[in-house]
Amino acid sequence: IIQVHDLHKWFGKLHVLRGINLSVARGEKVVVIGPSGSGKSTLIRCINRLEEFQQGRIIVDGIPLDQDLRHIDQVRREVGMVFQQFNLFPHMTVLQNAALAPQKVRRWPREQAERKAMELLERVGIADQAHKYPGQLSGGQQQRVAIARALAMEPKIMLFDEPTSALDPEMVGEVLDVMRDLAESGMTMVVVTHEMAFAKEVADRVIFMDQGEILEEGPPRQIFEQPHHQRTKTFLQRVL
Ligand code: ATP
Ligand code: MG
Repeated sequence: IIQVHDLHKWFGKLHVLRGINLSVARGEKVVVIGPSGSGKSTLIRCINRLEEFQQGRIIVDGIPLDQDLRHIDQVRREVGMVFQQFNLFPHMTVLQNAALAPQKVRRWPREQAERKAMELLERVGIADQAHKYPGQLSGGQQQRVAIARALAMEPKIMLFDEPTSALDPEMVGEVLDVMRDLAESGMTMVVVTHEMAFAKEVADRVIFMDQGEILEEGPPRQIFEQPHHQRTKTFLQRVL
């Protein structure tokens, strides 16, 4: 469902993605790990075109991410994204936050969007907080709202960029639980995370990025227990 061919990206003179090749099958769970600055965020931001790229090709569900703005719109409708920072609108309730995108993008009437949002808030376990403002919620609750908000667009693919890194340790589990449920429901997921236990349990494939390249990839057991590259070993020794 995602194909990335020989992707290169520069920020000015900085060559941050150096020939990435990646394909993700429908329903597959891919976890991306690697040192800070290796290009993990940039790669997944390219997949929903939050970042432009200079060379290579990305095709999402058959739609090429080229200069055609209609294609970019189509891809963004199919790809939900959750960031480290929750980016909720502080002046809107939880329910309004979760119901906003389908009204704006899909032109759903408010009632329909709110009904859908309420279902999703239930699914992530915070329906009882629906009428509060984000500032009244814990970090873990806010991140679950952010997940519900992304799901409200009925995406085919969900991208996560370190969704638990900004959370207090006691909040991490509740967000990972929601992600685990989503994985079990068959969602295609690409997740940048340092949560190795989650990766071991949920990932079909782990990708190790270093200096703008995919250095190695494989099933979690192989990457964690028998990495081929010294750089992968060194990285894992630091994070495990
Ligand atoms: P981290 O684990 O710290 O989140 P990362 O693997 O996600 O790191 P990226 O954020 O993709 O790494 O950054 C890759 C490289 O691109 C880094 O050298 C970073 O400084 C640089 N970079 C990222 N965003 C920009 C930007 N908007 N302008 C210029 N350089 C950038
Ligand atoms: Mg990053």
